[in-house]
Amino acid sequence: MTELDAFPEDWDRALAVVAHPDDMEYGAASAVARWTAQGRWVGYVLVTDGEAGISTMPPEQARHIRREEQVASCAVVGVTDVEFLGHPDGVVVEGLELRRHLAAEIRRYRPDVVLSINHHDSWGGPSWNHADHRAVGRALLDAVRDAANPWVFPDSGEAWDGVRFTAFNASPQATHFVDVTDTFDAGVESLQCHATYLRHLQGDMANPEAFLRGGAEAAGQAAGVGLATTFEVIG
Ligand SMILES: [Zn+2]
Repeated sequence: MTELDAFPEDWDRALAVVAHPDDMEYGAASAVARWTAQGRWVGYVLVTDGEAGISTMPPEQARHIRREEQVASCAVVGVTDVEFLGHPDGVVVEGLELRRHLAAEIRRYRPDVVLSINHHDSWGGPSWNHADHRAVGRALLDAVRDAANPWVFPDSGEAWDGVRFTAFNASPQATHFVDVTDTFDAGVESLQCHATYLRHLQGDMANPEAFLRGGAEAAGQAAGVGLATTFEVIG
């Protein structure tokens, strides 16, 4: 990992935009807990309901459970504004429709900072990122620009050019760190709220404490703090 800078914290409002319930909880939630404890506003926009995430449960049943688990997960880290856009899970399309939808959300919430998760093809090394993460991340960067331009999507709210940067958690090209030593436990608890989903998972990711601690210790070592989470900052 290359040298990391401290994540700027001279802002008031952050809007997190991710594809699925649980995306923010695999690393970013502990940073959100730090920021809300400092008095900052953080809101979440979920592009899908994550209804295709549990292979043994039909989507119409999973949809409600995953929404409820996300709302509970948000409450743990001080987030009460949670919105679901209802795009179909697993087949999110990067394009004008998604850009318009995300630009409208950015214009409505008027954030200083936009948050999401890794949108690159890989998580680092030979791995393949989820199609929805790639689609949402790329459309989101476009939508931040779209939101600032009054002539783009003029019927989708008043232009907002106040976004200073977009930051992607769990990126293989991390540039910044957040010290989450004091809020790590809240991040774990936030992930544990996805109980139905976690019961379905196998392997490392099914154990919130161990999975998150491994990542936070490695990031903390790179950053020179106890526990950390990292972001790629663009903008
Ligand atoms: Zn996801």
